[in-house]
Amino acid sequence: MRLGALEAGGTKMVCAVGDEKGRIRERRVIPTRTPEETLPEMIGFYREQGVESLGIGCFGPINPVKGMKGYGFITSTPKLAWQNCDIAGAFERALGCPVGFDTDVNASLLGEITFGAARGLSDCIYVTVGTGIGVGVCAGGKLLHGVMHPEAGHILMRRRPGDSYPGKCPFHASCLEGLAAGPAIEERWGAKGAELKDRREVWDLEAYYLAQACVDFTYVYSPGRIILGGGVMHQEQLFPMIRRQYRELEAGYVKNSQTADLESYIVPASLGDDQGILGCLRLAWEAKEG
Ligand code: ADP
Ligand code: ZN
Repeated sequence: MRLGALEAGGTKMVCAVGDEKGRIRERRVIPTRTPEETLPEMIGFYREQGVESLGIGCFGPINPVKGMKGYGFITSTPKLAWQNCDIAGAFERALGCPVGFDTDVNASLLGEITFGAARGLSDCIYVTVGTGIGVGVCAGGKLLHGVMHPEAGHILMRRRPGDSYPGKCPFHASCLEGLAAGPAIEERWGAKGAELKDRREVWDLEAYYLAQACVDFTYVYSPGRIILGGGVMHQEQLFPMIRRQYRELEAGYVKNSQTADLESYIVPASLGDDQGILGCLRLAWEAKEG
């Protein structure tokens, strides 16, 4: 089967062709400009390659709820040129094949469920900690949308006493993304995360917020595993720190076999940087097979 995959991001579009086994045959990266410029270039790639269906994991906010008015559109994104862009419809019309459409983080989660660290799990979440923080949720074997999609990167946080950093989110004074995404780390400490590896206090505070979020996600979504990916999570020392602080904050309230073993409950993403594009292949397969 020749399946198309598109990881649509605010700075780059990763276009690929592969199969249902997760083998990627071709890949082309196209810079994200305006829809008028970038859509035809991507459509040209999939036409050249000849795909039977396409799966899109898209930056948001988007409308991924099938059957709802506005399905397939990018909605109120700060990337103004892409606001109200019918991205799924544009590909469907141009390629004449089925198109699967979901958030970029749901696609990453689907990649991990199909090929990686969450293989076979029906309840799992994927948290990406990068330029922003996004959370993909799978509950009862289905990717969760609600009336739109969860925005769990913006959950409101209890600040660690003494933390007076104003936060980076223009909407919330103390949300997870505003306190713990890559740009917040950079502004708070005056250097990029990658340059702060040896500053223990940086990762101790980061782990405090991520652990707090993981505890809340345990309570709200009851996942069997929490996968943490994205650029910031390349700081591998964060994992033991998060697990330790999770244990403290959670205080033994939830007693199940998953949370008993935090080594296998809070885990790094497992597919290099390919979980997103592999999830898009799976979306394409699902769109075709119904
Ligand atoms: P995006 O979220 O834009 O798709 P990334 O997941 O790579 O891309 O996230 C970029 C953010 O992650 C930036 O704020 C960057 O400073 C931070 N980042 C990237 N690599 C590292 C690293 N090795 N250690 C800490 N922070 C990093
Ligand atoms: Zn926010």
